[in-house]
Amino acid sequence: MSQQARRIQAVIFDLDDTLIDWSQPQLSWEEYTRPMTDNLQSHLSAAGHQVPEPDEFYRCMRDQVQEEWTAAREDWTGASFDGALRRTLRVCGIDESLVDLQELMRAYANTYQPMPGVELYEDALEVLAELRERGYRLGLITNSFLPMWMRDVELRHYNLIDVFDARITSGDAGYMKPHPAIYRHMLELLDTTPEQSVFVGDRPQNDIAGANDVGMISILIDPPHLQRDASEHVPDYTIERLGELVEILERLEIEGLEIRD
Ligand SMILES: [Mg+2]
Repeated sequence: MSQQARRIQAVIFDLDDTLIDWSQPQLSWEEYTRPMTDNLQSHLSAAGHQVPEPDEFYRCMRDQVQEEWTAAREDWTGASFDGALRRTLRVCGIDESLVDLQELMRAYANTYQPMPGVELYEDALEVLAELRERGYRLGLITNSFLPMWMRDVELRHYNLIDVFDARITSGDAGYMKPHPAIYRHMLELLDTTPEQSVFVGDRPQNDIAGANDVGMISILIDPPHLQRDASEHVPDYTIERLGELVEILERLEIEGLEIRD
């Protein structure tokens, strides 16, 4: 192991279960997504398309979303919402060329809202403000098939919208964590290098594996309700709450970082 002092320039976060706490959602996934999917169905119907009834349309969309994710996980390309919509239209026998996909996405977004019961970790805003105050560039990478403009609805709700210097979803990037391309894309946006960056996330097989591969400093956030198995993808540090980040960054600044051999 060698020692090399280096200044950390950027701290990049995952979103779900890293900054916002999904331990107590108040709705099932179906209850949460059903109003938005019903909006798609009625939008298509109003435009004159032959559309399955809402129950069938919901099942079809749910299955096609699953297909989109399964295909994306084969090579960690980014599942995208418009990809899932195209699959759904195809299976429903609707001619994609007759549908304005952007308008369809806006119909979905009309009722898009944060999941009730899902809240920011209580120290999140304070820690993010502290990091900004200390001059770190902040980034956000979320494995979400939705476009960032739609997830921004949640960022506004949680007062996170002005916090990040750059934010991307895997749906927009075309790659998902742990694919190195999505991390490199963010590093470019933040104009920094892997060695000068810290990545904080809750999933060893996605967040940590990718950050380690790219050569970033990886921090697993593992609050008691998650208890992730990190034996295969070992993080440089593990924390239980975001507040511990500040001390780790201070240590990295003062002592330098142990580089993996
Ligand atoms: Mg997460």
